[in-house]
Amino acid sequence: MMDLVKLWIITGSREFETSKRSLENVTKKGIEFINENVTKIDLQNKIVRTSYRRLHYDYLIIALGVELAPEQIPGLKENSLVLYDLNDVPKIRDTIRQLKSGKIAMAITGLPYKCPPAPYEAALLIRSVLEEAGTSSSIQMDFYSPTPITLPAGGPQISEDILQILKSKNIEFHGNHKTVSVEQNKIKFESGEADFDVLITVPPHKAPFVVVDCGLAQPGKFIEVDRSCKTKHDRVYAIGDVNQIMVTDKLAVPKAGIFAEGEGITVARNIASQIKKEQESSTFDGKGGCYLETGKRAAGYIRVDMYADPSPVTELKSPSPDYFSEKEKFEKERLEKWL
Ligand SMILES: Cc1cc2nc3c(=O)[nH]c(=O)nc-3n(C[C@H](O)[C@H](O)[C@H](O)COP(=O)(O)OP(=O)(O)OC[C@H]3O[C@@H](n4cnc5c(N)ncnc54)[C@H](O)[C@@H]3O)c2cc1C
Repeated sequence: MMDLVKLWIITGSREFETSKRSLENVTKKGIEFINENVTKIDLQNKIVRTSYRRLHYDYLIIALGVELAPEQIPGLKENSLVLYDLNDVPKIRDTIRQLKSGKIAMAITGLPYKCPPAPYEAALLIRSVLEEAGTSSSIQMDFYSPTPITLPAGGPQISEDILQILKSKNIEFHGNHKTVSVEQNKIKFESGEADFDVLITVPPHKAPFVVVDCGLAQPGKFIEVDRSCKTKHDRVYAIGDVNQIMVTDKLAVPKAGIFAEGEGITVARNIASQIKKEQESSTFDGKGGCYLETGKRAAGYIRVDMYADPSPVTELKSPSPDYFSEKEKFEKERLEKWL
């Protein structure tokens, strides 16, 4: 199941059972699918170990994503519903419908996190569910983030645009709120605290253990690569959420599926060139975009060009039913192409 479907499960327009596809479908493309846990990456001997076997590689592309790390914030797992955890998503759907009045708080509790606009999209969709349920006017919504503006990766203008959309839906944004712990009905920040009836969190993320264990990522970091996605080890690449590609000394490529796809294509082309003994010519272009659903089958579109000259460009196209239809098409096309 694509992650974006999690938000549709919250709105009730989708069920997990009818949204998943088997990764085994990649076998149709002549790719062997081994559904086993990777337990060790042995870079010296070019071997990947799984629970049941050892696989020798000539080229290794690491695409293990991130692990959610709610344990890094004391009390978070026990006292909040985790937006990015598939187990909690149906609970969020049911809880917001049962709530008749009170306070819903949402908090981003670690940086970086995947799909930077997704938590705002979730907030807007939750507001829209409350409107449909007729409870919206008696439910306060607060959004806490450690960042000063809503979307630093998108820059000040997009952040302001998103802030205004949130305001128009009566969702109060509180920047510079770094979460340190969560208790029953109380979230504590480095400075101050707030109470809530329901707390929905984006937990801290970390690199999967196997990539830290083999030294590809430093503890607390992701695998650092440049636009070629090559690691320091010969013929070993890292794509998608597991990597970190710095664009400027402060700005990294956001963790998003659209960029994981672009990086994958870059690496595939360059490996093909190596095998054919041709010049490697592909570079990750940093172009992409994602949809920002605002409720009632409307969405905005955030267009991104990370390597535009002289500096990254992002723009938010105003919410409309057309972008919502494009989002649905985006999912359909990817599933058809990949699986
Ligand atoms: C709510 C939400 C909405 C989103 N919406 C969008 C969107 O609209 N557009 C967009 O571009 N992006 C979106 N994203 C982000 C997008 O889903 C991710 O950036 C993308 O999935 C990253 O792909 P990946 O292949 O790097 O990692 P993943 O998709 O996380 O895949 C990694 C895989 O590796 C597996 N794995 C990890 N460790 C091991 C191990 N030791 N052994 C075996 N397997 C292992 C995992 O189980 C997983 O299947 C959204 C994310 C969320 C949470």
